[in-house]
Amino acid sequence: MSRPLPTLAELRIESGTPVLVRVDFNVPLHDGEVADDTRIRAALPTIQHLRERGAKVVLCSHLGRPKGKPVAEYSLEPVASKLAELLETEIIFAHDTVGDEVASLLDEVQPGGVMVVENLRFHPGEKANDPDFSQQLARLGRAYVNDAFGAMHRAHASVVGAAEQSEQIAAGLLVEAEVKALDKLLHGPERPFIAILGGAKVSDKIGVIETLARRCDGILVGGAMAYTFMAAQGRPVGTSRVESEKFLLAKRLLERCTERGVTIYLPVDHVVAEAPDSESCQVVKEIPDGMAGFDIGPETVARWTDVIGRAGTVFWNGPLGMFEIEAFSAGTMAIAEAVAGCEGYTLVGGGDSAAAVKRSGMADRFDHISTGGGASLEFVEGKELPGLRTLRLRSS
Ligand code: ADP
Ligand code: MG
Repeated sequence: MSRPLPTLAELRIESGTPVLVRVDFNVPLHDGEVADDTRIRAALPTIQHLRERGAKVVLCSHLGRPKGKPVAEYSLEPVASKLAELLETEIIFAHDTVGDEVASLLDEVQPGGVMVVENLRFHPGEKANDPDFSQQLARLGRAYVNDAFGAMHRAHASVVGAAEQSEQIAAGLLVEAEVKALDKLLHGPERPFIAILGGAKVSDKIGVIETLARRCDGILVGGAMAYTFMAAQGRPVGTSRVESEKFLLAKRLLERCTERGVTIYLPVDHVVAEAPDSESCQVVKEIPDGMAGFDIGPETVARWTDVIGRAGTVFWNGPLGMFEIEAFSAGTMAIAEAVAGCEGYTLVGGGDSAAAVKRSGMADRFDHISTGGGASLEFVEGKELPGLRTLRLRSS
């Protein structure tokens, strides 16, 4: 067993103690406004906990990929405005991330007050885990808290270096909850343990498929990913999206699952069309030439619903069709309903998957929806995430 995470309760904080908190405010923006505030809301418990203890809360995050220099469209200012609205309080926004001006702004923050500093990735030192940049960050607080679960798999300055250089550190409440929820998949999951995998590409998810093939009792494979597996078996896939360089790997994975007694379920029917935007689509058992599969069909949904209904644990990553398009969303929506109805432990990870579950209106009926895409996959793969390792190394 790994060492426990250091907790907020263990931090020695007095009224006015500045606390640097790494959050994941990497949210979608639309016309300069926050389009989805899920990740901001997810950080509120930790922010409120620290405010109630009188800390000066200094929040840092990355947003998008500005590549080490200031880019106006990736400013965290709209995110700070949204946070102010959610907290119903005034927030100080610093137009840089570190430095003397930021430090003097911090003097103006009252005990229990909140400051948001500018996008970490405006500085090249963030991604490089540069020691100087890490130290400048660490100096913004007298304690460091990591509540950015979605960034835990990145060995960046705000995740690793700043933590190493801080005198006291702790995991935030979101990180604690994510780790607790995901740990259930790795340690004694209720059986049968069923994984549902979908999405666009096999290559994004090879590591996690290999791990799940060792841990699960059954894997339901949908989305475009299914067509690489089907084509690898020599079955017709028409013009569906496949990765031919992964055929060999897909074949080997299927063989390994058979040896281990892990059942792989591939779709038995498909919603096909000539192109995603073509007017007409149809349900077929075998994909004809010139057509591509964009969703799992109703017979597949019926069979999978039965498997899911009997599961003790369900882990879902990756939509089962091109759910952004109405005509190809039925499979993903029906499976969301099936998972919602499962009495076992149910967890979904992945940005698009979480969005699909939210759209289905079933989100409340899942046990856990991870805010981390890549981080949750790497966690399930059994990898030690750099951010978590750093926190654990410092636990007493
Ligand atoms: P997540 O973000 O949950 O990890 P991915 O990013 O791996 O999920 O996959 C989501 C994408 O996969 C969606 O944009 C969806 O349109 C696409 N997708 C799913 N099924 C298909 C399909 N049959 N053909 C093409 N694209 C698909
Ligand atoms: Mg995605």
